[in-house]
Amino acid sequence: MSPDSQFARPLFAGVDVGGTNVKIGIVDSEGRIVADTKFPTLPNESPDIALIQAREEFDQLVQPTGMVWGDVAAIGLGTPGPMDLHNGIILTPTNLPGWHGFPIRSRLAEILERPVTYANDAGAAAFGEFWVGGGRAYQSMVLFTLGTGVGGGIIINDISIDGANSHGAELGHIVIDTGPNARICGCGQRGHLEAYSSASALVDRTREAMGDPKVGSQTTLRKQIGEASPLSALMISDAAAAGDRLALQMVSETAVYLGRGIAQLAHIIDPAIFVLGGAMNFGGTESELGRRFLSDIATEVRKLVFPVLGDRLVVKFAKLGSEAGFVGAAGLAKAEYNRSLA
Ligand SMILES: [Zn+2]
Repeated sequence: MSPDSQFARPLFAGVDVGGTNVKIGIVDSEGRIVADTKFPTLPNESPDIALIQAREEFDQLVQPTGMVWGDVAAIGLGTPGPMDLHNGIILTPTNLPGWHGFPIRSRLAEILERPVTYANDAGAAAFGEFWVGGGRAYQSMVLFTLGTGVGGGIIINDISIDGANSHGAELGHIVIDTGPNARICGCGQRGHLEAYSSASALVDRTREAMGDPKVGSQTTLRKQIGEASPLSALMISDAAAAGDRLALQMVSETAVYLGRGIAQLAHIIDPAIFVLGGAMNFGGTESELGRRFLSDIATEVRKLVFPVLGDRLVVKFAKLGSEAGFVGAAGLAKAEYNRSLA
């Protein structure tokens, strides 16, 4: 039996470009990872350096598997936005200053000698969860990624909803507060979900609440923060898990705001499942705090949606970790490849 016989051909490859690392991997037709690696992005240099390195790394990855590059049918590429998906151009992501305006899809296709499907990084991660993660058993899925910002992806029947202007599924920028004092989002506009439910928003809201003598004087967070250890979302999460009332309230408010965003998506898309990915998961399903977070979201959503949507609401944490991006990018390449055969 050859070492590769467990994998289903053709294979697909995924490239997930982040501000710090480029994660790449080869995935089989069933979404199983054959091999993967990562290398530094060099965000200030020409993207050519990273793309050529990706080619070399792929050649290294393929060698010990008993397979050849010819077994790889197509490539999926995810990068941060903004981007022009229709023309395959990465526009002006703030964390990749050297990459602005680069025709990344055609150049990667040239270097890897395969067709390239280009996606937003959050859309790629969403497709990974849809294909082999938390959304696996469902026909439609909305993913929120909760990290420094709030990202998202919408997948319906193998299609990622990218929009006419490559700005579909910008779920962090759903308007949840139209009041004059609505919080200011990282994008500069007021009242967006990201300004309420991201990890940085959790830190900002908690810092503000700690300054309020009515609620802020009792929290254990006061003793923990110092010059060497500034307030962080993880610190707040840990304090909440240990029962700190202010931290619990802040986590609960994060859930309520997210629930308002989810309620809008429920009425617009009515997806079979909502999946929550990203680094901020409050311990996930294994922890009491994580389960409480999901339950607080559901309570808020049910206040706001049609009863049938509330009754059938499914909200779960993502199953994949940092591999979601390249696995999903490869999955999008597979979906495109299958459509090209049809
Ligand atoms: Zn915004």
